Amino acid sequence: MEVNLHVKTCKDVYEGEYEMTYRTFPKIISNRCIGCGSCSNVCPTNAIEITQYEDYKIVRIFYGRCIQCFMCVDTCPENAIIPREDYDIITDNIDNLYYEVCLKMVKCELCGKYFTTKRSLEKLVNELKSHGIDLSEDMLRMCTECRILSRKLYPLRIIL
Ligand code: SF4
Ligand code: SF4
Repeated sequence: MEVNLHVKTCKDVYEGEYEMTYRTFPKIISNRCIGCGSCSNVCPTNAIEITQYEDYKIVRIFYGRCIQCFMCVDTCPENAIIPREDYDIITDNIDNLYYEVCLKMVKCELCGKYFTTKRSLEKLVNELKSHGIDLSEDMLRMCTECRILSRKLYPLRIIL
């Protein structure tokens, strides 16, 4: 039986017979990320970790665990994750090979807990404003639990 095999060679690629396709590791555009955590939730290899250090939320992609599936790229609501331009990354310790962004957090004025990022809150305010809803300043400075508690304590106030 005769089998026709065509092995793709570098020559084929360079002569345009095949399109060169490859993936690189993802990176986060720091001024777009709001720290929502969606990328971390969908990552199948737990390569994206969300942690907190003092008053910063840190979104960190560990390249040693990344399989370049780009589910994070497809999921990010802010289009903040894009492929890196480079792909030849060298390290002597793969655990130290990561990309991170640090986002300033906001503290709840009632309980003192850090509850969201400043950028996420700004986005919420702007989106509500675009729908004609203007939140009062004190409501913006409360975490979800304190807003609910506040609603129970002061049922006549209009709180979102
Ligand atoms: S990179 Fe995108 S999905 Fe991930 S935390 Fe930032 S905004 Fe959310
Ligand atoms: S490309 Fe895939 S494996 Fe890599 S960080 Fe994104 S979701 Fe995780």
